[in-house]
Amino acid sequence: MTEHTPTAHLFSGATVDHYAAVVTAALGSLTDRVRVVRRPRSGAPQQDLEELVAGVDLETPLGDTFSALKETSRLYLEHAVWFHEPGYVAHLNCPVAIPALAADLLASAVNTSVDTYDQSTTATLIERRLIAWAAGRAGLGPAADGVFTSGGTQSNLHALLLARDEALAGLPGGVLPPGARLRVLATDQAHFSVGKSARLLGLGADAVVPVPTDERHRMDPAALRRVAARVQDAGDVVMAVAVTAGTTDLGRIDPLPAVADVCAEIGAWLHVDAAYGGGLLVSRRRRHLLDGIERADSVTVDFHKTFFQPVASSAVLVRDGATLRHVTHHAAYLNPRGERAPNQVDRSLQTTRRFDALKLWVTLRAMGADAIGEAFDACLDLAVQVHEDLCAAPDIEVHSAPTLSTVLFRHRPTGPDGPLDPAAADRLVAGIRERLFDEGEAVVARTVVDGRPWLKLTLLNPATTRADVRTVVDLVRAAGEDLVAESAVAPAALVLAGGQAQA
Ligand SMILES: *Cc1c(COP(=O)(O)O)cnc(C)c1O
Repeated sequence: MTEHTPTAHLFSGATVDHYAAVVTAALGSLTDRVRVVRRPRSGAPQQDLEELVAGVDLETPLGDTFSALKETSRLYLEHAVWFHEPGYVAHLNCPVAIPALAADLLASAVNTSVDTYDQSTTATLIERRLIAWAAGRAGLGPAADGVFTSGGTQSNLHALLLARDEALAGLPGGVLPPGARLRVLATDQAHFSVGKSARLLGLGADAVVPVPTDERHRMDPAALRRVAARVQDAGDVVMAVAVTAGTTDLGRIDPLPAVADVCAEIGAWLHVDAAYGGGLLVSRRRRHLLDGIERADSVTVDFHKTFFQPVASSAVLVRDGATLRHVTHHAAYLNPRGERAPNQVDRSLQTTRRFDALKLWVTLRAMGADAIGEAFDACLDLAVQVHEDLCAAPDIEVHSAPTLSTVLFRHRPTGPDGPLDPAAADRLVAGIRERLFDEGEAVVARTVVDGRPWLKLTLLNPATTRADVRTVVDLVRAAGEDLVAESAVAPAALVLAGGQAQA
């Protein structure tokens, strides 16, 4: 089969040999690359990469897939950010399970869309089994339901939409009294998608009312009770309390049982954002950290974070499947009213939707849930060791002991005049991160907690060792010392690095 006609490029029984040859070639360039990768990224400057991509003339095709793959290897694989490399410790990205990659190959080629049963058959049934499985792990009860989503952001939006419409449905006449507003209660540690969702839902930028935290940055249930009373006294409606099981920066888990008590008292929807902490559902050693999640009205789980799944793989789970009716719309051509088929579009914000559930299914069938949980537990164990190492280092300040697998710290090298003052150490944070990224040996994150910048390690690779992380910390040190030395020669260097932190 040649590639000279457009249909020769389309997957079918007639082209399947060509497909196999192309996929084999793609596989070859991928495996050749990964075999030699030794650091998380190439270290090529952004400007070079911009020129590399801009230099491709999209109006002049190469004519065959093998040439296109060679070009893609040069553009993409050579400069990709590799999450499986031990030097990658920045964000909530994981190395991916091989069974899931095989599943993705199948789902992409078959191109199933899990919106209606007539486009998906067993794919829909598989997704529904997994939703039931995950809801069962969370303990949401017999009426639970849910749907796969594109990520935690969409899951949170979906959950808060249901909360909003349930709150309205519970009001006399289904409308807010004049002057009353819907309010979402959350801490300042909640993911930004909670606030973004409130805006998307038309609730206004101030709809998220902050709830104070305890000294460990977890929602304070007594404060929640007070804030809820204040909101209700003002004539407003607490539409939802959005808590986090695994905050993005500190990995903290809000006190789920105590918050659930308050929600029950005030009749508010409890949303648990377990985008990060969801992996605890399969941990044999730490499942108890999620105790209380069974009382949630909705739960966000990102399988593409702590279940080692490729992006995208996430779900929103609900205690009462009937609440999903708030996103149900019937189209005569697709899912007419009264049709008895299990149409997932009735439950989803999306219409055409990838069969992302297959990845998790094949992973569970190949590895089993315990093995996924063990992999996540290994990351959590590593975080404890890394915290120990950092605490023992005289030139490192550590934020706090980890709850999950993030560790926040700051390098405070000794300059010619003794230890760097706190303000200078703060300014160093952004410069260190940038220098490491530029060099490509390690990718770390930075954030701001308690008003001060911190370097952040997110450990989500169970193959990464304590020694690997020590190497990253040594790179941090070297970068910090270089920046301090450079600033002694040219003080502007450090000011500049700090200036970019504010940007
Ligand atoms: C990552 C994260 C999200 C967003 O999930 P995406 O899959 O990136 O959309 C939401 N909440 C928390 C707590 C997260 O860590």
